[in-house]
Amino acid sequence: MPEQPPTPPLVVALDGPSGSGKSTVARRVASALALRFLDTGAMYRAVTWRALDRGLDLADQDAVAEVARRAELRMGTDPATPTVSIDGADVTAAIRETRISEAVSAVATNLAVRSELVARQQAAIRAEPAGIVAEGRDITTVVAPEAPVRVLLTASGSARLARRARELHGSDDPEALAATTAQVHRRDARDSTVADFMQAADGVDVVDSSHLTLDETVAAVLALVAERTGAASGGPARPH
Ligand code: C5P
Repeated sequence: MPEQPPTPPLVVALDGPSGSGKSTVARRVASALALRFLDTGAMYRAVTWRALDRGLDLADQDAVAEVARRAELRMGTDPATPTVSIDGADVTAAIRETRISEAVSAVATNLAVRSELVARQQAAIRAEPAGIVAEGRDITTVVAPEAPVRVLLTASGSARLARRARELHGSDDPEALAATTAQVHRRDARDSTVADFMQAADGVDVVDSSHLTLDETVAAVLALVAERTGAASGGPARPH
């Protein structure tokens, strides 16, 4: 008998602003459900890295779009060890550098880059027979609006800043907070010109992590997955 999965692979779409903790949460959810993991922000970061590596002016929209179209971009989707390589260079660590965080919005607001990367993200999601958790800014609305589970992870401004400061500087003391604030605000302002990730679209569930621990946030997302897919009751998927 041919082996046919009874249901299509599960896609969990998770959006949120920087500092909402969405990457960590998405990886934990993927591991818990034995799904793959796609960090779409890492794709924008990798194209940024490559464009800078080639000495391009990021304001040159055509040249940067050409980099996105031609790049050999490989996303390792194991949630335990996600990796990114572009044109043969492993940039998993390099794309986290401040110079990339500072520059990435210029690439993410390039609409030709977006259409190329959205198409690649959709292909990557389709290519995962095991199912996938995809996270970013426009997954619930543009990349995978048909996903059975769509979650917007939010957090108060102060919770997001404290989380980012701890990530970047290992502390959320006033000095670290001050160093982080300007960067996060600048990036949010630029990013929100192309994707509305501060408000949930119709049918998207909101999880506010401001007062939740990481474990609690993961549990809240897992509960939504169970609810939306009927997994907890063993019943049929709920229409939405
Ligand atoms: O999530 P992360 O902070 O790594 O994303 C880096 C940048 O990539 C964001 O600041 C945003 O400019 C862009 N991005 C996007 N759409 C996505 C994911 C990320 O525009 N789906």
